[in-house]
Amino acid sequence: MPDSVSRSRRSSSTASNGTAANRVDRARIEAAVREILLAVGEDPDREGLRETPARVGRMYGELFAGLHTEPRQLLRRTFTQKYDEMVLVRDIEFASTCEHHLLPFVGKAHIAYLPAGKIVGLSKLPRVVEALAHRPQVQERMTEELADLLMEELKPRGVAVILEATHSCMTIRGVRKPSSVCTTSAMRGTFRENQATRNELMALIYGPR
Ligand code: ZN
Repeated sequence: MPDSVSRSRRSSSTASNGTAANRVDRARIEAAVREILLAVGEDPDREGLRETPARVGRMYGELFAGLHTEPRQLLRRTFTQKYDEMVLVRDIEFASTCEHHLLPFVGKAHIAYLPAGKIVGLSKLPRVVEALAHRPQVQERMTEELADLLMEELKPRGVAVILEATHSCMTIRGVRKPSSVCTTSAMRGTFRENQATRNELMALIYGPR
């Protein structure tokens, strides 16, 4: 097992991009929300609901702002650094929207990579998570997209992405399992090939802190 020192950092999610949020067609969302309210048997003109279509329009602008951003750009500014041990950013909180039900799934991402001469600013990783989370998503795809993006842009020796999330579509409807957590992982390069590297990663993420 290679003895490596990892950089581990807790991070919170960054604010979403305001200009990207303005690119959704809010008027169209408002009309659709009004239509849904009518369809379920509500009166969209009663006081409590009057502002709802506009509010949901703004909210979707924010939740889906990631559709109008290119997360790849965030990884283009790299630094040459002779650091070839594991870099891990743990506990990156995110909130995304399940594309099957348009309900939130909320959780944490852990991202690790083994640089091959190129490193990226640590704050960029949470921003990439943010960009991908702010789209209609499927947790499995988001996990793989994160891993592939890092592999392509940083050309590291390996990438590991683990996502843990609770899905509202499982907790408030359907099977109603409020405490179930869905874990997905994508391993690339050394993390896929080398059990010891994977063990080391797991110890860093889940071991005693
Ligand atoms: Zn769902």
